Amino acid sequence: MEILEKAQKMLEKHPLCNHCLGRQFALLGYGLDNHKRGEAIKLLLTMRSHRLALLGKKAGVSLLKIIATNGSFDMAAEILKKMRKKVGKKQECYLCQGRFKHLDELVDKSLEKLKAYEYTTFLVGVELPTEVEEREDEFKAEFDVRHGENMRNEFSRDIGKEISEITKKAVDYKKPDVVVILNPFTGQVTLQANPLYIRGRYRKPTRGIPQSKWVCKKCRGKGCPRCNWTGKMYPESIEEIIAGPTLEKTGGEDASFHAAGREDVDARMLGRGRPFILEVKKPKRRFIDLQELTQTINEQAQNKVKVLNLRFADKSAVRKLKEAEASAKVYRTIVEFDRNVSDEELKILEKSLTNAVVHQRTPLRVSHRRADLVREKYIYEAKIKRLTPNRVEMKIQCQGGLYIKELITGDEGRTDPCVSGIIKAGAKPIELDVLNVITLGS
Ligand SMILES: [Zn+2]
Ligand SMILES: [Zn+2]
Repeated sequence: MEILEKAQKMLEKHPLCNHCLGRQFALLGYGLDNHKRGEAIKLLLTMRSHRLALLGKKAGVSLLKIIATNGSFDMAAEILKKMRKKVGKKQECYLCQGRFKHLDELVDKSLEKLKAYEYTTFLVGVELPTEVEEREDEFKAEFDVRHGENMRNEFSRDIGKEISEITKKAVDYKKPDVVVILNPFTGQVTLQANPLYIRGRYRKPTRGIPQSKWVCKKCRGKGCPRCNWTGKMYPESIEEIIAGPTLEKTGGEDASFHAAGREDVDARMLGRGRPFILEVKKPKRRFIDLQELTQTINEQAQNKVKVLNLRFADKSAVRKLKEAEASAKVYRTIVEFDRNVSDEELKILEKSLTNAVVHQRTPLRVSHRRADLVREKYIYEAKIKRLTPNRVEMKIQCQGGLYIKELITGDEGRTDPCVSGIIKAGAKPIELDVLNVITLGS
């Protein structure tokens, strides 16, 4: 069926505004909106019926009446008046119920809400009542619409364009800073700010601070005598020390802390520091000075934690960070034996550990949170320095995920080989530090 025939059939049956008529042919033509499309079709239909009417054909007049009422088209009404014919009343659009006339109100409401946020890009999401979508689906089936688009798209695009012109901010379909969600039928507008990602590295020069907030095991966060009513096992964590000032600066509601692995509470994290990403949820401000933030965090942390290299990142960086957990790490540990050890023994130890493949069954101390299985981890290099007759310093460069404490003690036979086993003496780590985390691309 030709465009005009199809459009005529639609209008004969249902009142349609320019937007809703034009939308049924949205994929035809280029660089014009559906409102213009609808107007052009109504104009041609008016010319066609005007010609028939001038030729004295009744069909011309009745079509003009339809275009004037169901099409709400003024030109058709004018022609009928000049011909001294009766003109009926304009009808409300069957599909959008006249909602496209109220776009400005939605734009104003959106702008008002957007004022509270800093953003560079945005997207307009549209919610429609089910019955509206169903009505349009049935309509499309009835008239075999093949080159149309849906109402949601048109609302989203038209309102997005308007907001973009006023705010000079860009519409981004993939990673918008904020999403305006609106319902043209209820007039409801809500705003959803997408997370802000800040990446960096942290050093932990002081022992005794966990990486993440550790909820009290006894009361599960409610507060009890054991946790001194804090609900936490430790008063602070790296996560909280970094997130606190960041949430204050960004006006975010909450934060998630992502890191490439973690060191034990009693281990330090030295050297270049451990890569992390802080995900700030629902931030009001994004244009923050990261140098200033670095300073604030480090001042408030009082040398318990030090952040460096803060930069903005995006969601994909979080996945890459998790993958980097398997990257190489350098540890320094002080080991104490239950007897004096000879230089010869230390040489053998160094040799046996360098380029060794370690079979490590999930340690007893973490078995509650990690699956019980045997992991195979590689040690690239071990360097040993004597401190006293029964104490040594070991530097171990190994694959991420190797549990160092267990490498030393043997964990009741669960880690093999181990320092204790090679020396054939009791061995325990009395200090442990992470010197470096080597990741790709950071
Ligand atoms: Zn409409
Ligand atoms: Zn408690």
